Amino acid sequence: MFETIAEYGHEKIVYCYDGDVGLKAIIAIHSTVLGPAVGGCRMRKYDRDEDALFDVLRLSKNMSLKNAAANLGVGGGKSVILADPQTEKTPELLKAFALAVDSLGGIYYTAEDVGMTVADLNYICKFTKYAMGGDQTPGAHGDPSMPTAYGTYLGIKTGAEIKLGLKELAGVKIAVQGVGHVGTCLVELLSKDGAEITVADINQDSVANVQEKYGVRAVQPDEIYDVDCDIFSPAAFGGTINENTIPRLKCKVVAGAANNQLLKDSDADLLQKRDIYFVPDFIVNCGGVTMGTAEIFGLTYEEAFKKIDIVQDNVYEVDRIAREKGITTQQAAIEMAWGRIQAAKAKKLESGDNR
Ligand code: NAD
Repeated sequence: MFETIAEYGHEKIVYCYDGDVGLKAIIAIHSTVLGPAVGGCRMRKYDRDEDALFDVLRLSKNMSLKNAAANLGVGGGKSVILADPQTEKTPELLKAFALAVDSLGGIYYTAEDVGMTVADLNYICKFTKYAMGGDQTPGAHGDPSMPTAYGTYLGIKTGAEIKLGLKELAGVKIAVQGVGHVGTCLVELLSKDGAEITVADINQDSVANVQEKYGVRAVQPDEIYDVDCDIFSPAAFGGTINENTIPRLKCKVVAGAANNQLLKDSDADLLQKRDIYFVPDFIVNCGGVTMGTAEIFGLTYEEAFKKIDIVQDNVYEVDRIAREKGITTQQAAIEMAWGRIQAAKAKKLESGDNR
């Protein structure tokens, strides 16, 4: 177990258990070099406990990179609650989780991720001040879905400009995998621009909702990889871009909101070999955490939303590094973000702060 943890370079892993209320959770604090570790909580039924650990280790490292890239002045962390959000979520379980977060004294701030809602965060905020993403506490910015979708939209636009030389998305064919909270907001933004959108989701109600609102085309979940499109946009779970799906893609650009879209970093090479341009997810899906972090620093909704524009500069910067060094955009993005963390660490050590 410690070998797996060491591989990702985490500062601290906290296991939380409360048998009375059925809480099984893992809080992973990847880096606090730039500030407290910030990242949402995912509630999901995992087949095996090891899968939950793997998920939280990857997600929290991703948060360190995402938060550093977005210049948020915070570090990276994440938590998972091992439970079915449909059938096992109770107020007692959420309270026990909130108290576990609180006991860490502010080295970790939590928020929404898959399986958690604004209402859940409002409840959690009653028991800890180290939670964001509700809409009832003073200064809270609420549902992060639209800000996340907006950053993703900027990433898609910039990717389309770099790879396809397009300034506008009108008539551009975009396949969106997953139309949950973020995917639906993304479809709204893309359809306003006149993109030709195809969606897929395992939840047929969600599909019907976007079809009715935006008149998009829909295919079965497994058919989305074969859709003839310019841009493929994952907005469901991670790992959907892998050695099995890459050969099927018909797009020229992959850019989306889902965390950890590549099953392995080396999948970026497979994309490159197929001449598909990858816009790294942690560079574009920072809108939600940008709004959440703004709650810590007391920024207004408008001030925080403006900060999401950094996505555009970052996509260009990643492209510049990738071209200059002849590496994939995924490697370039990691280099850029990791470089910012390392520079802050060196500065801290220089000033005698070796925490
Ligand atoms: P969500 O649970 O609301 O939506 C996910 C959607 O994907 C659901 O509608 C689900 O039915 C669908 N789905 C699941 N498996 C699928 C499959 N095999 N094929 C097609 N659809 C499938 O979650 P969300 O908040 O919209 O987040 C979507 C992604 O974006 C996640 O990867 C999440 O980690 C990432 N993300 C979200 C935020 C945020 O602000 N919510 C921020 C950053 C990253």
